Amino acid sequence: MLTQPLARKFRFCPQCGAPQPALEARGRFMECGGCGFLLYFNPGIGTGVLLADDRGRLLLLRRGKAPAKGKLGVPGGFADAGESAEAALSREVREEIGVTLAAEAFRYLGSAPNRYRYRDVTYAVLDFFYTARLPAGAQPQALDEVASWDWRAPASIRPEELAFPSLRAMLKLILPKVDFNTDSPR
Ligand SMILES: [Zn+2]
Repeated sequence: MLTQPLARKFRFCPQCGAPQPALEARGRFMECGGCGFLLYFNPGIGTGVLLADDRGRLLLLRRGKAPAKGKLGVPGGFADAGESAEAALSREVREEIGVTLAAEAFRYLGSAPNRYRYRDVTYAVLDFFYTARLPAGAQPQALDEVASWDWRAPASIRPEELAFPSLRAMLKLILPKVDFNTDSPR
């Protein structure tokens, strides 16, 4: 499906109803020439965790829902307003695989921009990635929007299997450097 950036979806000013072209979409924000209403289009904050087991394998989730349905991702999701990235990730991990990981369990890895196409809108997103070790005795389940999950040796993961460019970029960046069997935190 053809998608458009969020800014293109505003055909009228949300405040005064002035039609385009009074609204000026300039990428970062739009401003209404009629009433001065200003709306920013900053990226949404996404989170993801490269969750390793004690053999250094990574937990990958097969997505049960659009976008990228059927492709592989990692546990994570969008931060709500007022949430830290780590708290959002902790909540998403619990919702998606039923595993409890405190915010302190995550070690920051890096960030990568993403484009999240949902219905007919393309959202700009900045994804923050972390590593963590699966707690002893924890048993992942396929819950919210997750079709299935599997442990994968990092070297066996092919870029085209992955749902999002940000995750591909992150794996490409770290796989040569990180031995998940020894370098990941507890
Ligand atoms: Zn206006």
